[in-house]
Amino acid sequence: MHIAVIGGGVVGVTTARELIRRGHEVTVLERHELAGNETSKGNAAQRSYGVVYPWADPSMVFKALPWLLKQDGPLKMQLPPSLAAVRFMFATLRYAWSPGLYGLNRRAMLRLAMHSRERFLALESEHDLSFDGGHQGLLHLASTPQAMESYRETHRLLTEMGFESRLLTPEQVREVEPGMTGNGPLYGALSYDTDGTGDCHLFSRELAGVCEELGVIFRYGVEVDSLEADHRRVQAVRLRNSEGQMESLAVDAVVVCAGCWSPELVRPFGMNLPIYPIKGYSITVPMKDAARGPASTIHDDNFKVVATRLGDRLRATGFVELADFNRDIPEARINTIRKSVQSRYPGCADLDAAETWTGFRPMTPDGPAIIGQGPRENLYLNTGHGTFGWTLSAGCASVIAQVIEGEAPAVPLDPFRPGRFGE
Ligand SMILES: Cc1cc2nc3c(=O)[nH]c(=O)nc-3n(C[C@H](O)[C@H](O)[C@H](O)COP(=O)(O)OP(=O)(O)OC[C@H]3O[C@@H](n4cnc5c(N)ncnc54)[C@H](O)[C@@H]3O)c2cc1C
Repeated sequence: MHIAVIGGGVVGVTTARELIRRGHEVTVLERHELAGNETSKGNAAQRSYGVVYPWADPSMVFKALPWLLKQDGPLKMQLPPSLAAVRFMFATLRYAWSPGLYGLNRRAMLRLAMHSRERFLALESEHDLSFDGGHQGLLHLASTPQAMESYRETHRLLTEMGFESRLLTPEQVREVEPGMTGNGPLYGALSYDTDGTGDCHLFSRELAGVCEELGVIFRYGVEVDSLEADHRRVQAVRLRNSEGQMESLAVDAVVVCAGCWSPELVRPFGMNLPIYPIKGYSITVPMKDAARGPASTIHDDNFKVVATRLGDRLRATGFVELADFNRDIPEARINTIRKSVQSRYPGCADLDAAETWTGFRPMTPDGPAIIGQGPRENLYLNTGHGTFGWTLSAGCASVIAQVIEGEAPAVPLDPFRPGRFGE
């Protein structure tokens, strides 16, 4: 089959790899000139298999307002909010208050994450990729005794689901992270031992190179306009090519991996994908004293900022902002990220010299990604991965390939079904 993959982010590239290995002809259509150049570019670099959870969490509802009101708080909203932002918030609240749904979705996401870890390790052993990656685990720091208490519950769930994790005392945290010499509050941490790190942008580009060697055609600088279909099947992808000409590319199947821009591609078929772009920010800077920087990756619950080591660089990331597709980078956001790093890893880098970035998490209001057959029999979706797309990419690529080939997927996909929002 000739399969077009729309979107060359980490999800599209991993999907293309699975499909070419199964003997299909694959064309990736990407409007940027590089793979992984949109949301997959400057993310927090965590492969956080044990952490995955839906944001539609009943307890989150009570945390959100104080976060919104606090000056350095992690949640921000453009005022007045757009209609799309208001709709997204109400939909999230509705899912958060659906009895039992959070627990079911969290377990479903953890199962997919477990599969993703296996698939990622297999992929990594098969190809020689350099992406500043590591397998040293991930720490969630507790800056209050209450945070430590909530980690005990998570630790129990992870153990039940087969993930290795440990509760650490502040002394043990400093043994694992000797560079953490700052005086930020610390009551301990939850160590997610099966998790890892890696530069998602580098990974996407390296894997795209491998895919090209395997025979995938990457068409960069092309904008997909629409899908040409009858009531049953998609016949072609209508695109504006790099010369600015409109063109139809004949296909046997299509996989939409277009992140935040996926909804517009399926809307003409009457499918509503309520993906909202949740904005975040990052800084990346070479470390001037690596011994004083993170050994792996930490989530600082005081500022809700993640600091990750990427080779000899530091990446720090934060904020959940509802501002539609606004790409501004206010200095105040970057200052909060700097403040968090400074409170944990003082002197590790010249934070004023950092490269800044903003990107949009393709969030669904209930939490799980959107994976499965779409509104035509040869139209598939692998999108809406929210804050865990790098983590889940390898597993999602594997299960969507199984769906396309009519095999039973390695993990149950019901919570991820594309049609669930209209039900
Ligand atoms: C601040 C921040 C921190 C994050 N941290 C983490 C983390 O630590 N771990 C983790 O797992 N995830 C993290 N994420 C989430 C993760 O980055 C995303 O889930 C992931 O990058 C989504 O990948 P994608 O391929 O679906 O989307 P994208 O990377 O956005 O790729 C979609 C591609 O489709 C292309 N496209 C769209 N429409 C068209 C069209 N019509 N024609 C042609 N091309 C098109 C776009 O140009 C784009 O390249 C974070 C996100 C943010 C914003």
